[in-house]
Amino acid sequence: MQTGKMTKRFFPSLFVIFLLLSVVTVPRIAFSAFTVTEKIPYSDFKKLIQANKLEEVIIDSATMKGILKPEEGEKAKKIVTTVKIEDPDLIKELIAHNVKFSATTNGGWGQSLFLLWFIPMIIFLILMTRMRRGATGAGLMSIGKSRANLYIDKDTGVTFDDVAGVDEAKEELKEVIDYLQNPQKYQRLGGKIPKGVLLVGPTGTGKTLLAKAVAGEAKVPFFSIGGSGFVEMFVGVGAARVRDLFAQAQEKAPCIIFIDEIDALGKVRAAAPISGGHEERENTLNQLLLEMDGFDTRKGVILMAATNRPEILDPALLRPGRFDRHILVDRPDIKGREEILKVHCKNVKLGKDVDIKIIAARTPGFVGADLANVVNEAALLAARVGKEAVGMDSFEEAINRVIAGLEKKKRVMSKREQEIIAYHESGHALVAESVPGADKVHRISIIPRGISALGYTLQLPTEDRYLLTRSELMDRLAVLLGGRVAEEITFNEISTGAQNDLERATDIAMSMVREYGMSEKLGPMTFQNGRRPQFLDLGFRAGRELSEEVSKDIDNEVKKLIFDTHERVKGILEENKDRLEILAKLLLEKEVIEGEELRKIISETAPSPKKTSSV
Ligand code: ADP
Ligand code: ZN
Repeated sequence: MQTGKMTKRFFPSLFVIFLLLSVVTVPRIAFSAFTVTEKIPYSDFKKLIQANKLEEVIIDSATMKGILKPEEGEKAKKIVTTVKIEDPDLIKELIAHNVKFSATTNGGWGQSLFLLWFIPMIIFLILMTRMRRGATGAGLMSIGKSRANLYIDKDTGVTFDDVAGVDEAKEELKEVIDYLQNPQKYQRLGGKIPKGVLLVGPTGTGKTLLAKAVAGEAKVPFFSIGGSGFVEMFVGVGAARVRDLFAQAQEKAPCIIFIDEIDALGKVRAAAPISGGHEERENTLNQLLLEMDGFDTRKGVILMAATNRPEILDPALLRPGRFDRHILVDRPDIKGREEILKVHCKNVKLGKDVDIKIIAARTPGFVGADLANVVNEAALLAARVGKEAVGMDSFEEAINRVIAGLEKKKRVMSKREQEIIAYHESGHALVAESVPGADKVHRISIIPRGISALGYTLQLPTEDRYLLTRSELMDRLAVLLGGRVAEEITFNEISTGAQNDLERATDIAMSMVREYGMSEKLGPMTFQNGRRPQFLDLGFRAGRELSEEVSKDIDNEVKKLIFDTHERVKGILEENKDRLEILAKLLLEKEVIEGEELRKIISETAPSPKKTSSV
């Protein structure tokens, strides 16, 4: 009862405030899906003043912001920013051209007072709209505006020289640049132009930088927005923003649209929580798919997006004609780190004792952003103590600081861990090269990839294969066990790093016994029942029950396959123990070994004398 009275008294007053607020704020921003901010040179800024195009100028300590007078029929509010330059004539000119101007200090008093007052209002607005959600359509758009800022950079000024250690990605992107520079050339031959390029890799490896560099190299405008900027709690806003974005981009074509953290928007539908905001994200995603299918590549708009979680993306986004080009932007190896460090040291006065190679060697697992951080931190440290140049001691200290920061995020490997991984990966590689039915090793690396995997050994199939023979499957099993066995015979103990290998090995062995009828004991029969439930396998396919006896036989056969293979691999690696040693040491030093180099090492070294029978 009491609460009822409370609301009655409480509501009208809040409602009045709400109405008042709407009158004040909504006309300014309601129908603009974005605030468009464009960075321009100072000279252009002045020209805008002189041409009477600016309505208002806001000056802070480092930048100047100009709000353009709205043009006929324009919905979005346009803002230009420029870096502040000492210019004694500026104020005179502002007055002469009747421009309103003011100065702010960043995040000062006024702003926090404003927030104090504004935050409760926002919460109230959210509650109000949640209640009326669905009925109002794209009514209130002002909230979350800051996240949704669309940035347009006419010229990013970033070139490929600014991005280092990602040569393969650059190579792949050259085609995109070429296309943006002369779209006609491609059209004439009827060539298919990529619409969407997805950059995949851990945070801080330079995905955004690469996208900017593509725009910079092609000298086309760069539109950027974060994926989360589309996701709003208000129905229709996200979709409207997508439409707006594409409309604006097409006007400025050729150009690049870059969506950072696209996973925020493109999460696979089932993976989303059941709660609110879910349906709205789906609408937004659908709109994006619609726009992607609809826009004409001949106009020269290329969509680029970045994610560090490709596995959660909705498959619809990855289909041909959408983000069908995937480029891996991985953690840099030692050589790559050296190059990245060089880029960031360009404008730093280095001491004579600085050896960038050593810094690169001291920073395994660091991404470009970490390295930029190291250089910056070192420069600050040196400046603080009044040094003339940044010496090696400053770098050492900077590295330690950055490592301490990363350790908190559990991204640094100890020396010991690195060693174990080096032997583990060398084991995979040596087995792969020793058995006839395995794919050739393309590359071995101990640089952590993605989120969970430690090192990796990349094997490339020499041809596309659909049928595998029993002996080929046995060889695959052997390669998978190679990592663990290498750890066993080197360290006499095993780590948890082989878990994924063992899972995959068990899967193969299970399939061999159950699905392919490759067990001698059980004969050519399949026993599909009882396997692990698969995606979309809602239990409809559960077949006949297996007798306990048969289940036991299956288990025993799987076990036997794995044990036999384990023995076989042990034989192979013991025969190759010297090579294992050489390879692991080299891997520790270089972090990456290419396939050819591996085969060269194998051909130049003798097998170890100790003879164990191998199958
Ligand atoms: P991502 O988008 O992959 O998270 P960013 O492109 O935002 O990474 O990188 C952040 C910053 O780190 C860049 O602005 C740049 O200073 C530095 N950086 C990252 N990768 C590289 C690289 N490969 N070469 C040079 N600098 C890099
Ligand atoms: Zn492994």
